[in-house]
Amino acid sequence: MPLKAKAHQRNLRVAITLVSGLLPILLGAVILYWQAERTLKQGTEQTAHEAIRQFDLMLDNTAHAAQILLPLAGQNCKDVTLALREQVTRRPFVRSTNLVWGDDLYCSSLFGEYHEVVNPGDYTLGGLWLMNGNPVTPNTALLVYRLSEGKKGVLTTLDGYHLSNILRLIGRKTTLLLQVGPDWLSADGKVHKGERPELPVAQSTELSENYAFTVSAGFPEGETWRYMSSEYPPLFSLLIFFGVISGSIVHFLQKRAMSPTHEMQRALEASEFIPYFQPVVHGDSKRWAGCEVLMRWKHPKEGLVRPDLFIPFAEHTGLIVPMTRSLMKQTAALLAPQSASFSEPFHIGINITASHCQDLVLVKDCREFLDAFAPGSVHLVLELTERELISPTATTLQLFEQLHELGVKMAIDDFGTGHSSLGYLRQFNVDFLKIDQSFVAMIGIDTLSSHILDSIIELAGKLDLALVAEGVETEEQSDYLSDQRVNFLQGYLYGKPMSGAEFISALSDY
Ligand code: C2E
Ligand code: CA
Ligand code: CA
Repeated sequence: MPLKAKAHQRNLRVAITLVSGLLPILLGAVILYWQAERTLKQGTEQTAHEAIRQFDLMLDNTAHAAQILLPLAGQNCKDVTLALREQVTRRPFVRSTNLVWGDDLYCSSLFGEYHEVVNPGDYTLGGLWLMNGNPVTPNTALLVYRLSEGKKGVLTTLDGYHLSNILRLIGRKTTLLLQVGPDWLSADGKVHKGERPELPVAQSTELSENYAFTVSAGFPEGETWRYMSSEYPPLFSLLIFFGVISGSIVHFLQKRAMSPTHEMQRALEASEFIPYFQPVVHGDSKRWAGCEVLMRWKHPKEGLVRPDLFIPFAEHTGLIVPMTRSLMKQTAALLAPQSASFSEPFHIGINITASHCQDLVLVKDCREFLDAFAPGSVHLVLELTERELISPTATTLQLFEQLHELGVKMAIDDFGTGHSSLGYLRQFNVDFLKIDQSFVAMIGIDTLSSHILDSIIELAGKLDLALVAEGVETEEQSDYLSDQRVNFLQGYLYGKPMSGAEFISALSDY
């Protein structure tokens, strides 16, 4: 059935609705994730930058002390101990100062005269060494600054406590690491040797422009999601809102697109409603007298659809009017080129519904139809079913008068199944009665039906109306109806409804 959704179509529809609802949410979540990563990265860059600034300030302090003490290197330790201690006292971050001559550390602010070998290779770029403590304070980080000039040298030390404080305070939410050569310091004040660990989220590493150290800032695994869930709940609500809106819009559009009305409108625009033609023959000679035009829906998936499956719905929605108009245009285009070969006016029966008779537009449709043919070459017969008769109003009476003036003929279809009165037949200038196929089918079988058939034939004779018998399938029916002088016959015995091409080809054989 073309107008009923199938289960797999419904599933597809649900899937499309779900995807269109989820897609904006997913896309939005990806954008938010990306935004969160950017924000975190900016944060770590700033933090690393600030840490570098602070460490630089501290090292400036120790470097100043070293510069002041350098000229004293080589002098007797006793003479300069005071100067060494003065720098320790005056400079906030300096913990100790030491003088070096060659590779001999010979004088210290802590011990005075004291000897230790200095290995310049311990110092990154000859200037900085991050140590894990010294004999006085083992296991306490210490940053040693070295300044040398020829044999003269100064070592000033910076307490690791200040360094780890900076790592802790600046990077409250960020993990910060200070790296000097092969050693690195973590916020807990511990000095580690070897590869610095990677910080999985938003890692930024900055190099000091003034001293040989780097600072890395970053976050542990999962920080992006933690950040999103703490910062973005309103945005997430908005995303879900958009998802619901988008899903609903798509659902609505699909429903509309899948609605029978929309589907028929589409089919009409795609010219899927096409005419089929069934021959109507003369009752006596059985020669072709014309045809009845029967609508078919050439559905792209369902194939050829019978009219009783869609005509009632088309009538219900009012689409039957443009559909009939399209059918008439197609019929005229197909048959008009044949009109020269018609030896007598060719009957063309078109089925019309009551809704098509509500205004005078039908007159225009019929005029356009007739204008396509050579004058007088066809008889246009409008078939109105007896089950759905038109009420006689000023408009309908005017309509039928104008149709009559145009030369359009009227037939009452399925005659015998409804209840048209004699007055009705006269009022609307009816020309033909089409005997319903149920009476024809009972010929020779059911005597009551045959009686009704006989009375219809008698009535038509008295009212001077021409008769068409429908649904003639057997020779017996054909003979009976011919004997009764029924003017025209129609049925599978003479020809089934066929496509335009088949009909035209069959027409040339007759
Ligand atoms: P209808 O106007 O009474 O058309 C005659 C129906 O009987 C056609 O069915 C035709 O194929 C069928 N028929 C013809 N000869 C025989 C026969 O010997 N034996 C049997 N058993 N059937 C025969 P179809 O084409 O399926 O049309 C069904 C109905 O749909 C039509 O009945 C008509 O009421 C409606 N219809 C068809 N085309 C149109 C149209 O363009 N507009 C409107 N409003 N209704 C249409
Ligand atoms: Ca008909
Ligand atoms: Ca009929």
